[in-house]
Amino acid sequence: MTAEITKPSTAPLEWEYATSREATDILDLEDKYGLFIDGEFVKPKSKSYFPSINPATEETIAEVAEAGEADVDAAVSAARRAHTEVWGPMPGAERAKHIFRIARMIQERGRELAVLETLDGGKPIKEARDVDIPLVAGHFFYYAGWADKLEYAFPGIRPESLGVAGQVIPWNFPMLMLAWKVAPALAAGNTVVLKPAETTPLTALLLASIATEAGLPPGVLNVVTGAGKTGAAVVSHEDVDKVAFTGSTAVGKLIQSQLAGTDKKLTLELGGKAAHVIFEDAPLDQAIEGVINGIFFNQGHVCCAGSRLLVQENIHDRFVDKLKRRLATLRVGDPLDKNTDVGAINSRAQLDKINELVESGQSEGAEMFQPDCVLPDRGFFFKPTLFTNVAQSHRIAQEEIFGPVLSILSFRTPEEAVEKANNTPYGLSAGVWTSKGSRILWMADQMKAGVVWANTYNKFDPASPFGGYKESGFGREGGRHGLLPYLKWSES
Ligand code: NAP
Ligand code: MG
Repeated sequence: MTAEITKPSTAPLEWEYATSREATDILDLEDKYGLFIDGEFVKPKSKSYFPSINPATEETIAEVAEAGEADVDAAVSAARRAHTEVWGPMPGAERAKHIFRIARMIQERGRELAVLETLDGGKPIKEARDVDIPLVAGHFFYYAGWADKLEYAFPGIRPESLGVAGQVIPWNFPMLMLAWKVAPALAAGNTVVLKPAETTPLTALLLASIATEAGLPPGVLNVVTGAGKTGAAVVSHEDVDKVAFTGSTAVGKLIQSQLAGTDKKLTLELGGKAAHVIFEDAPLDQAIEGVINGIFFNQGHVCCAGSRLLVQENIHDRFVDKLKRRLATLRVGDPLDKNTDVGAINSRAQLDKINELVESGQSEGAEMFQPDCVLPDRGFFFKPTLFTNVAQSHRIAQEEIFGPVLSILSFRTPEEAVEKANNTPYGLSAGVWTSKGSRILWMADQMKAGVVWANTYNKFDPASPFGGYKESGFGREGGRHGLLPYLKWSES
């Protein structure tokens, strides 16, 4: 008897994913939110409110108060009083306990924060849950540790807090940008007036109530929601000692010119157009994962996104083929689905901006590839996209798209890679993939970027400083360096 041998099929396997939707019943949302000033939620003197929507459904989640100048003034006064009477004189060890308690509560309520972050901003729940919120808790834990050790952080000087910090943050990492700013400011003994982005104000308000529950004294942290006008009122308020801004280069430049001639301290964390360089000797499969993470993490709404891919010419075609196959496996859609890799674009305005730049790429002659995926009927979504045949002069190679769009260029020699990588007004981050250690060190030295990742990408750690140069801004957040912008000192 002869056994029949069945030939294995060569057809590609089609995997289907059953929906695995994160429940939202953990949230206890209000219909309307006031401003968080002096330890309580208050109605805005402006009497004005705006909706915060869920970008995946376009439905309004809640109405949020829009702080006018009088509201910002009340928040700054509360912060000033809290600094003079309570937080400034408090021993570092006591401040540390407060920050540590907030960190513990962020951990405990991590799921709630992650769900709200996803609902309000559109990022995939698996990123909010596994990346954003753990890093947020990590930042508060890390800076709690420094609060009573400032003399050791900077030996030989006697560090002192500055007073009231006015902080303005963007919508791409609402909680993480809050943590990068609030945790070091509080550890260094400052009080805070924070302006979250118009499209993502809700987690900052939840954090304010968590801080109150944690026993943070009134006035130490104030949250004034609103749009650009509210931000402008915060940075230009005359009783603010320190301005920390994360956002676009255009607004950063405006703020810098407004503050010129004042004695306010300023840090600017602005845009980027990072080069991600792949050498022929790179571990290609790992590099593919790095590139995917580099540009499609958080829909590409990442200041340090690896948005300009430079591939060595002799592996270019093979690498692009692999990349296209990998692109086709990304799941785009409902951010609350735990399988989703690419969620919703944060706002209609951002979607319009992405569309406009992608159209310019096509009309300037670059070649576009998008996988064959179906986008939801409602909400703001954009297919993961890559462009080949990109020239350095194309807008998609020069301008920050801030979306899931990768521009691919090639190079022949390491020197050419460096020339092309540095051919940008930005200088926030860069990546390099090669198996040669000496080349990693040489590239890191040559590339004009605040952060250079080697054989990995988008790795963040509270102990590691982050920031740019050139038009990506100045000042560092994270690490011991992140305390410096919140301190003044006299020689001891
Ligand atoms: P944006 O328009 O500059 O807004 C950033 C924040 O500033 C928002 O809260 C905004 O209010 C507020 N704002 C707007 N006009 C203002 C003004 N005249 N004065 C004071 N505040 C004002 O930036 P975005 O488009 O929201 O954010 C994306 C940008 O942030 C990208 O360029 C990205 O690269 C950058 N980013 C940089 C880093 C970094 O660490 N370097 C990190 C994340 C993001 P609204 O609520 O009205 O927007
Ligand atoms: Mg929203």
